[in-house]
Amino acid sequence: MSDDDAWVADDIYETIESIDSDGVKFAVRLENVSRRYSLGKREIDALKNINLGIGMGEFVAITGASGSGKTTLLNIIGAIDYATEGRVFVMDVPIGDYDESFRATFRLANTGFIFQSYNLISTLTALENVMFPMQLTDKSLDEIQEDSLQLLERVWLAERTDHLPWQLSSGEQQRVAIARAMANDPPIILADEPTANLDSESAKMVRDLLQLLHQSGKAVIAMTHDSAIVRTKGARHLTMADGVLSSNV
Ligand code: ADP
Ligand code: MG
Repeated sequence: MSDDDAWVADDIYETIESIDSDGVKFAVRLENVSRRYSLGKREIDALKNINLGIGMGEFVAITGASGSGKTTLLNIIGAIDYATEGRVFVMDVPIGDYDESFRATFRLANTGFIFQSYNLISTLTALENVMFPMQLTDKSLDEIQEDSLQLLERVWLAERTDHLPWQLSSGEQQRVAIARAMANDPPIILADEPTANLDSESAKMVRDLLQLLHQSGKAVIAMTHDSAIVRTKGARHLTMADGVLSSNV
């Protein structure tokens, strides 16, 4: 990135928010992406030359054995990790070209993460966990609170707003995490084995919520072993094996 393009910190949110999603064709585009981890003298090629385009509003389910590179791929799309080769575009923005401060704000505005083990902040209530990602917006505290309450209603947790994570069941914690992922109304939802730790009833609720998010126009990318997620209406199924991505035909 040249100096001319340098971002002024205060303007980052405004600039990122103003990305015009109307003109964006791909929610995610990867060109020849590889990720190599170095552990001492050992090198692991977690991702090998991945090419992938995910359209706006598309539902993509990716399956693959443990260790095949699913989490690595998701973390790179979510700007948590970076590619060692190739280019990553999210909402047409080449996120690898920017520094960590831009990437942090960019992912808050554009991606909602749902993890296998929920990753809620243990000292915050359900409501506060949902409010947390909204801090960088220009909304007032009242608005943030009101919006967060509505999100908890949408995941059927209106009665649990003041509960701390340990006072919630696994399924309820995951639904708080889904509400949190929706906090800034991002165009892309990234889910890493979202139903793996849940009982069948809670897993169904999570699948229904992912489907609702898809129907509301969001691109949903789910790494999963759950065949019912793979069967989601309209979903594209891809498979990972040893760092290589292929379409499942
Ligand atoms: P999956 O999510 O499909 O189980 P991962 O993406 O977690 O697979 O891991 C892919 C490969 O990369 C594995 O061999 C794993 O051990 C390795 N790996 C993942 N993260 C790191 C890391 N931070 N440092 C070194 N190796 C890693
Ligand atoms: Mg994983």
